[in-house]
Amino acid sequence: MTLFDVIFQGNDAVYGLTEGAIDGAIEKYGADKKVAFPATAYSIPCYYAVTGIKVGTLGELKEALGVVKTLMTREPALNDALFSGVATALCAEFIEVLKYIDNETPYEAPCAGHLPDAVIRTLGVPLVTGDIPGVAVILGAAPTAEEGAALVKSYQEQGILVTLVGGIIDQCIEQNVKMGASLRVIPLGYDVTSVIHVVSVAVRAALIFGNVKPGDAAGLMAYTKERVPAFVNAFSPLNEVIVAAGAGAIALGFPVLTNEDTFEVPGALIPKVAPADMNAASLDARNIKIKITKIDIPVSFASAYEGEIIRRGDMQVEFDGSRVDCCELVHMKEPGEIEDHKIEVIGPDLDEFEVGSKHSIAYVVEVAGKSMQEDFEPVFERKFHSYINCIEGVMHTGQRDMIRIRISKDTFNAGFRLKHIGEVLYANVKNEFAAVVDKCQVKVITDPELVTKIRHEIAVPMFNKRDERLATMTDEAVDVYYSCIMCQAFSPSHVCIVTPERLGLCGAVSWFDAKATNELDPTGPCQVVTKEKPIDERIGEYEDVNEAVRKFSHGALDDVSLYSIMEKPMTSCGCFECICGIEPFSNGVCIANREYAGQTPLGMTFSELASMTGGGVQTPGFMGHGKHFIGSKKFMKAEGGVARIVWLPKDLKEQVAANLNKTAKELYGIDNFTDMIADETITTDPEELVAWLTEKGHPALGMEPLMA
Ligand code: SF4
Ligand code: ZN
Repeated sequence: MTLFDVIFQGNDAVYGLTEGAIDGAIEKYGADKKVAFPATAYSIPCYYAVTGIKVGTLGELKEALGVVKTLMTREPALNDALFSGVATALCAEFIEVLKYIDNETPYEAPCAGHLPDAVIRTLGVPLVTGDIPGVAVILGAAPTAEEGAALVKSYQEQGILVTLVGGIIDQCIEQNVKMGASLRVIPLGYDVTSVIHVVSVAVRAALIFGNVKPGDAAGLMAYTKERVPAFVNAFSPLNEVIVAAGAGAIALGFPVLTNEDTFEVPGALIPKVAPADMNAASLDARNIKIKITKIDIPVSFASAYEGEIIRRGDMQVEFDGSRVDCCELVHMKEPGEIEDHKIEVIGPDLDEFEVGSKHSIAYVVEVAGKSMQEDFEPVFERKFHSYINCIEGVMHTGQRDMIRIRISKDTFNAGFRLKHIGEVLYANVKNEFAAVVDKCQVKVITDPELVTKIRHEIAVPMFNKRDERLATMTDEAVDVYYSCIMCQAFSPSHVCIVTPERLGLCGAVSWFDAKATNELDPTGPCQVVTKEKPIDERIGEYEDVNEAVRKFSHGALDDVSLYSIMEKPMTSCGCFECICGIEPFSNGVCIANREYAGQTPLGMTFSELASMTGGGVQTPGFMGHGKHFIGSKKFMKAEGGVARIVWLPKDLKEQVAANLNKTAKELYGIDNFTDMIADETITTDPEELVAWLTEKGHPALGMEPLMA
């Protein structure tokens, strides 16, 4: 048998199963029964992306299967093989979607099954920054559980997102591999068809970030091949169904590596790779480079541990800024005052504390360098959360003097002590900020009296000074803005313009961050944008900003306004924290954040709203933005400002209330403006919304019509 025969046979087998399953479902539920994956705006995403057709019912699914059949041509040629691979994948997607009829959660923990759009949007930034350098798909059981777990752990330590299908899941459970989305190891399911859930992630990335049009199969395949760094590790024995599915992966540009002695297709199907060599061979096949931060500590340090949670019972000691004095601080000094790589521990160490006890801690990172500026202090400081969280068995929450750190028993028993916190901070600051930090030393202090003194006499006054400076930072007060094109790895024509009063839509890049990024890497993603030639100050349009946008979008975008949602609004890549859309009945806007899964008065969920914009295209009436932008005086300034906000999810409203109320008071003299803004506990119905807003006297009702 040739490889073609195997693929065709596998494809035919899956097709037969799918046909039977759809017919069975129609018999049971009727052809009009609704069918789609939950928490996505793309119904049955892979099929939608390949054909441009949105399936809504079982009857339509049956028709879709007819379309899939047309892909199943049988010439023994590469093209036919790849399309049969795609057809196999689509059949798998149909089989999987049937599991979701009348059941939002057919998968049981630890298996995830279908992943929501919101999860994909959170992956955007880490994938572009290389924080998640790749996506591994492991299929089947390794020869031994030890080898399987070792492979998974090796990827996890590199920050690679690992998805598991089949026997490997039980091997990981047996070997106590910590799993879950927050640890970047996601078991999808035991059936081979569940592999489609990771394919669906790659495909939706193309729709969400890449502006690939549904139905443009060639554009889709080019996008996944060039921009989604995924690969497959399939363990022996392979059957024809796995091989046919593998052909689908190859069609998307994902190489398949296996330990089986089977056919070889150079660069695409790579046989006879021993489990121990799979990691290196996979990275090589997909050309993935791993950033290594070598740190001298007794436990692992990897971004995969960032979301790890340490429960009370597993904890050796805790530092808790809500109960006792704690703080973290970056302090710029003169070079003569610093001895590079000096780590000092002042006060009792971890082994002098009782198990489960709470203590004070302060760590002060002192830096010096010719190009160092005070403005960078908070930029470094905000990274500490991530640095400390990346230590295996250490959890960090909060910032400044409201931090909490837990250290697990396992990590303590592995020999982790306070000086290692110093090592982690030193190595990361030196590594990430090498361009401005020449020398760095760290003091870790647990002497309670000294911590109290540092907190109140040094740290708090410094924080206050910084806050005052931030509060006076307006767009008018600076001479330049910054562009950010970090997301172009996924969204090739998207450009953010970052100003003091409008942070990047991902929420992670403030004007100060962009400034620091520019100074650290002058030819990097953030460039200086002047704003000397105003065209229209009302909507925030400048000739020089337009020129920058034209250049950095490679001509995809002509002009952009900074302060309007209706006229030349800023584009979105897809990783925005919030999406804002106009609500015609109230003459205002509704905003939904990524964490909010429910309905909005626009009749759309976050995912559906989010799908209205993205891929670096201007869509008047919809705007992706950061959470922090909601309280800004520049929010929709052209349309009258924050007074247009009529509806927010309750949680988000609470998060932004202080800022938003302050802004509304200053702009319109309104007290407690958030009391006039509806949320899901009040209504998600547009008519009820208007009635409620009328009762509250919401200002949007009396403003100029949003749509002329
Ligand atoms: Fe992406 Fe914009 Fe954030 Fe830069 S500022 S990382 S381009 S979303
Ligand atoms: Zn983005």
